[in-house]
Amino acid sequence: MTIRVTVWNEYRHEKSDAAVRLVYPDGLHAPIAAHLRQQGMQVRVATLDEPDNGLPAAVLAETDVLTWWGHMAHGEVSDAVVARVQQRVLEGMGLLVLHSGHFSKVFQTLMGTTCNLIWREADERERIWVVEPGHPIAAGLGPYFEIPREEMYGERFDVPAPETLVFVSWFEGGEVFRSGCCYQRGKGRIFYFRPGHETYPTYLQKEVLHVITNAIKWAAPIDGPAVEYGNRAALETIGDRA
Ligand code: ZN
Repeated sequence: MTIRVTVWNEYRHEKSDAAVRLVYPDGLHAPIAAHLRQQGMQVRVATLDEPDNGLPAAVLAETDVLTWWGHMAHGEVSDAVVARVQQRVLEGMGLLVLHSGHFSKVFQTLMGTTCNLIWREADERERIWVVEPGHPIAAGLGPYFEIPREEMYGERFDVPAPETLVFVSWFEGGEVFRSGCCYQRGKGRIFYFRPGHETYPTYLQKEVLHVITNAIKWAAPIDGPAVEYGNRAALETIGDRA
């Protein structure tokens, strides 16, 4: 079945910062969306400044997996949209949170923690180690891959302990970071993937696009049983123990 992906991007840095525009002339969502289309996925792009922040209920209802990149305008995402995304995740929609999306209201709401971390912009090499090589998100990767220049994110990363930790990053300046974290909330799967600072061509790198593709396939909803709550009649006759 074709996976329906909505690639959500705040899409502000690209409009206001020439250095970012040079790397991502059509927005950082563009290379991600193009790659996912090449993989046979049905892709829609949504951005902050569209009505309903690009995510009216009708769009979310037709989304199997939502990817989220935001940074400078987390506060401008409406609480109604945050509640709607949370509800869809609980119902089974997958969510892939990218880089500075760690501080989005959507991720904080679903994690229940501050999601704060250490950071530094110093053109550092990042080496991303695969620590769970049997996991579907690691399929097709080597023991590690490197990003030549990135922003550093370091521990502590204030998130709940991941249910599965797929990647650990090492940075040239010495820090380490849990950079590939899996969670489940309700019926929905969530993956946090660290790389993707807006001034670097990270989303043009093949390993990064490969991980995003794997993560979307992993997070896509499965056709499980409908959930029922509340009072239920017994399936069997309950015996008289007198
Ligand atoms: Zn950044």
